[in-house]
Amino acid sequence: MIVGVLVQLSNKSVDRIFDYKVPSFLIPKIKVGLRVEIPFGYQKLEGFILEIKENSTHDQELKEIIRILDEEIILSEELLQLGKWMQEQTISTLISCYQVMLPKALKAKQGSSVAKKYDTYYRLGKIENEKLNAKQQEIIDCFNKEDCIKKEVLTAISLSSVKTLVKKNILIPEQKEHYRVLYNSEIENKYPLTKDQSKVVKKVLTAEKTNVYLLHGVTGSGKTEVYMELIEDTLKNDKTSIVLVPEISLTPQMVDRFTKRFGNQVAAIHSGLSEGEKYDEWRRIYRGEAKIVIGARSAIFAPLHHLGMIIIDEEHSDSYKQEDKMPRYSAIDVAIYRGKVNKCPVIMGSATPSLGTYARCEKGVYSLLELPNRVNGKNLPDVELIDMNGEIKKGYNYFSKRMIEKITEKLEKKEQMILLLNRRGYSSFVTCKNCAHTIKCPNCDITLTYHKANKMLRCHYCGYATFLPTTCPECRENALSTLGVGTEKIEEELKKLFQEARILRMDVDTTSRKGMHKKMIEAFKNHEYDILLGTQIVAKGLDFENVTLVGVINADTSLNIPDFRSSENTFDLLSQVAGRSGRSEKKGEVVIQTFNPKHYAISYVKNHDYYGFYKEEMNIRKILKYPPYYYLVYIKISGKDYTLLEKESQKIKKSLEKYLQNTIILGPSPAFIFKINNIYRYGIILKYKKEENLYPTLKKMDDHYKSSTSVKVEIDFNPIHF
Ligand code: ADP
Ligand code: ZN
Repeated sequence: MIVGVLVQLSNKSVDRIFDYKVPSFLIPKIKVGLRVEIPFGYQKLEGFILEIKENSTHDQELKEIIRILDEEIILSEELLQLGKWMQEQTISTLISCYQVMLPKALKAKQGSSVAKKYDTYYRLGKIENEKLNAKQQEIIDCFNKEDCIKKEVLTAISLSSVKTLVKKNILIPEQKEHYRVLYNSEIENKYPLTKDQSKVVKKVLTAEKTNVYLLHGVTGSGKTEVYMELIEDTLKNDKTSIVLVPEISLTPQMVDRFTKRFGNQVAAIHSGLSEGEKYDEWRRIYRGEAKIVIGARSAIFAPLHHLGMIIIDEEHSDSYKQEDKMPRYSAIDVAIYRGKVNKCPVIMGSATPSLGTYARCEKGVYSLLELPNRVNGKNLPDVELIDMNGEIKKGYNYFSKRMIEKITEKLEKKEQMILLLNRRGYSSFVTCKNCAHTIKCPNCDITLTYHKANKMLRCHYCGYATFLPTTCPECRENALSTLGVGTEKIEEELKKLFQEARILRMDVDTTSRKGMHKKMIEAFKNHEYDILLGTQIVAKGLDFENVTLVGVINADTSLNIPDFRSSENTFDLLSQVAGRSGRSEKKGEVVIQTFNPKHYAISYVKNHDYYGFYKEEMNIRKILKYPPYYYLVYIKISGKDYTLLEKESQKIKKSLEKYLQNTIILGPSPAFIFKINNIYRYGIILKYKKEENLYPTLKKMDDHYKSSTSVKVEIDFNPIHF
C-alpha cells in the first residue's frame, strides 16, 4: 500500500503530494484524512494522508511512514474537498488551506504541549452478599439516580470507603475526557416571535434548502432571535449549525444568549480560549457533542457533520476576509460553498449590508428577507447632526453646545450613554510646531501614536515603542506638540466638564487583558458607570436597556481614510453605533458631530436611510469602476532591495498587460504604508468584469516567484485593504 502525503511545511516549493510506503502492521489503520509522521530529507515531519493507492509513479525507492498520529480522521472528505477548492480560488498553498481549518494543537510542531485531560468516574459493579457499612451504603445509594458518578462526589462521602469498594470491584473506575470549557446550562425561556420574525422564519424553512439569504433588519429588529429560532428547527431535524460573528470576544452578549437558549450544545470558539480549550472544543464538535458552533471567521471550518444551517451575523464586517496571510479567503464564500455541499441555507444578517450583498439581492442571486422595524413597535432613535465648523467658531472645542446639553440632561435623569471616538491613544500623532516634522516609526512608514498613560510613542503596525522626546529630533527646538484627539484625551476633557460622571473607557488599550472586555460590559450594564467612551468596539452588537444617548465625537475620521470603501464604512459605523440608543422602553437619541454634515455617508444616517445611501454609493462605484460593478485583485510585491523591487514590479505589469486583455491594470505604486519592518511594498491593482485568462495567468506568475527569496509576490482576490 502507498499513501500520498501532504507535508506540514509552509513552503510553496514542497506544496505537493509525496508518496510513502505503509508498513504492513499499519495498513489496517490507514485512512484518508489522518495525520502521519514521515521521514523528509533528514527530518521527521508531520503530514496529512490525501491519497491511498497501490502504485506510485515515482521510480525511486519510497520511504515508509513512521507512525499514525490520530485515532480519528482530522480532515473529513468534505473539508478535504473544500481545501482543494480554496487553493484554486485563492491561489494559495494547499497546506495553508488545511492548516487554517485546524486548531493549533493539530498543526505540526505546536501540538505536543496540549494534552487531553481526564476525570475519573465510577460505575456500579456486582454486589454479592457483601456486608456494607453505613458510609459504603450511602455511596452505593448514589447510584439509584445516576449510572456514572464523578470520583470527587463519592470521595467527599468517604475516601476510605471508596477505596474499599474499588478493591472489591463494587465500584468500577472509568476515565472520561474532561473538557476545559463548560457553559452555564440554565436554559431561559424564549419570546414568542413577532409577526415579522415569524414571516422570515417561515420563508426560510419552507423554501429551497440551498438558498442564500440576506436578512436586512434594522438595529434591534430581532435578527438574533430569528437566528435562534432557525437553529432550534435545525436541531429538531438532527442537524448542526454554524454562527459566524465578526469578533467573538467582542460579542459576549451574543454568546450568552445562545448558551442560555441551547446550553452545552453550543461551542464558542474565540481568541480568548487557550490552545487546550480550543482543542477540546474542536473535539467536542467533531464528535457531535456540540451541535452549534459560534465563532469568528475560521469557525466556518468547524468539523460538524450533518450541517443544516449557516448564519453570518453582521455580514458587512471586514473581519470575514483573511488578508494578512495565506489563504486569503472570504468566510462568506466558504459558507456559500459549504451551504451548497450540505444543501443547507446560508443566512447573512445586517442592518447595513455590504453593497455587494445587497446588489446580489437586487439581481436575484440572493433572496432578501426584511425586518424593517424594531421589535414591538419601538422607534429608531432620533439623529441630530451637529456642524462642528460653526461650533469651533463659537469657541466649543471637543464637545458642541448640544452634546454638552444632552450629556448633562442624561446624567440628571440617571440614564446612560455611549460616546464613540474612532481612534485610540491620547492623541494621534506628534509634530514639531517649529519645523513641522512628524515623528514616524523607523521600521514602518507610519506616524507614531502618543500614549499619555506611559508617555510613550507607539507604532500600531509593528509595535515599536519609544519615549516622547523633549525636543524635536529634526530641528532640536523644544516645540513638539500633540495633535489630534484620542480616547484618553476625550476622557480627560469629559472629566473636566462633568466631574460627577462615572466614565468607562473601552478601547484596545483598556481591553487587552483576558476577560476585561466582558467585565466592562457587565459593569456598564449594572450601571456602575454613566458614560461608556470607546472606539469602534462600542459600536457593535451591544444591547443596554438604559442607554438613551449615543454621541459621536467626530464622524469624519473614517471618511478621511484613502479607501474606496470609506463612505460605506462610515455609514455602517454611524448606523451601527446609533442603533445602540433607545433599545428598550425609553426613547433614544443620537448626536453626531461632524465637519461634513452634507456628506451623503453622514446625512443618510439621519433618517436611517440605508437604501438612499446604497443608491447614491452604487452610482459612484459605477462611475469609478469599483466593486460591486468590477472585481478587484491586489498583487502585493515586496522585498528588501528597493531597486530590484521596482524593476520586478514593472516586469510583472508588462507581462500582465500581455495576457490580460480585458482587465484594467493600475500601478505598480507604493503601498499605502510603503515600508513595514524595513520591507518595501509595491502594489498592482487589477479591475475586471470578465477575464478568462485571469486564473492561469496569476497562477503562472505565482509559480514563477515561488522560490524567489528576494521578491515576494502575494495575490489577494477581492481585497478589503490595499
Ligand atoms: P438585532 O439582532 O436585530 O439587533 P435582537 O435580536 O438583539 O435584535 O433584538 C433586540 C431586542 O429585542 C433584544 O433585547 C431582544 O431580546 C428583544 N426581542 C427580540 N425578539 C423579541 C420578541 N419576539 N419579543 C420580545 N422581545 C424580543
Ligand atoms: Zn513600525
